[in-house]
Amino acid sequence: MAVLESGITGSLPKPKWLSDPSAQLRADWMVAEDALGEAQDDAVRLAIADQVAAGLDIVTDGEQRRRHYIWGFLEALEGVDAHKLGKKQTRGARYTTELQNVARVVGDVRRTGPIFVDALKFAKAETGRPVKVTLPGPMTIVDSVVDEHYGDVLPDLAMRFAEILNAEARALADAGADIVQFDEPAFNVDTDAVAEWGIATLERAAEGVATQRAVHICYGYGVPQVIAWKNQNQDWGHYGHTLPLLNESSIDQVSVECAASGVDVSVIQHLSNKRVMLGVISVSTDEVETPELVAERVRAGLEYCDAERLMPCTDCGLVPRPRAVAQAKMAALAAGTALVRDAL
Ligand code: ZN
Repeated sequence: MAVLESGITGSLPKPKWLSDPSAQLRADWMVAEDALGEAQDDAVRLAIADQVAAGLDIVTDGEQRRRHYIWGFLEALEGVDAHKLGKKQTRGARYTTELQNVARVVGDVRRTGPIFVDALKFAKAETGRPVKVTLPGPMTIVDSVVDEHYGDVLPDLAMRFAEILNAEARALADAGADIVQFDEPAFNVDTDAVAEWGIATLERAAEGVATQRAVHICYGYGVPQVIAWKNQNQDWGHYGHTLPLLNESSIDQVSVECAASGVDVSVIQHLSNKRVMLGVISVSTDEVETPELVAERVRAGLEYCDAERLMPCTDCGLVPRPRAVAQAKMAALAAGTALVRDAL
């Protein structure tokens, strides 16, 4: 296993010809329906080329085929309406009182076939580097939909989605995904619920998936509402509750946001059994880290985690940043990692 394998959390900004640049998240496609697939293929080629040019070890498709990381999965399911949207208080109303654009569960939820398998095969054909595929985690999904059909309590609804996610994750692993990552920002909200059912539903989603299984946990995208919340937040103790639980789980890799929040890097000492994706690049600002600053953050992580298990990463997705900034941040991530690796 390589030492200090670097990579991004998942998403990258999209080219302006593909996606409306005035919206940071959930932007409309700028391309007509009949040309969209070809345009997304081209955007994925560029996203992979940018990661390879930066010098990252693990690549993703930059989530160029998804308007949003949760919608991209949900809109492929039967029983979910991701077009006529609903309203919901999400993430404990931390970032905004009520989200106006959440998908609705309107019938029995079913996966009718593979969702991201063709996209994975396309990405694998573009590069010989390991490819990671991201899926929204069960707890984050149920925190982000309105259930108008089942009337379930949240743990039961999450288990339904976990079973569907598991089928997709297994298909991705069988098709050659080197890492399948579940995105669970909701784990940093209600840590009691994580202990009561969040870990169990994540385990169900990952069960029997024959490749590296990862979970990404963060304090959200670098968008204005989230940055405003972060600037006044005093309690960064969530990881202290959840990482010891994850350390006893079957998950292989855990992603922790450490660059731009008030999280003390020492919290990763709770992940002694895991590979640790350490956030050393802020996604909240256009200011580009120097390789030296990245190296300093990686070395701080090495105080609490062996180099074989430490994976320098971004705090979260880079989708809200300008493309040139994202490219420069990825180059800094790889260069800073190389500084530390060369000195080992
Ligand atoms: Zn994130």
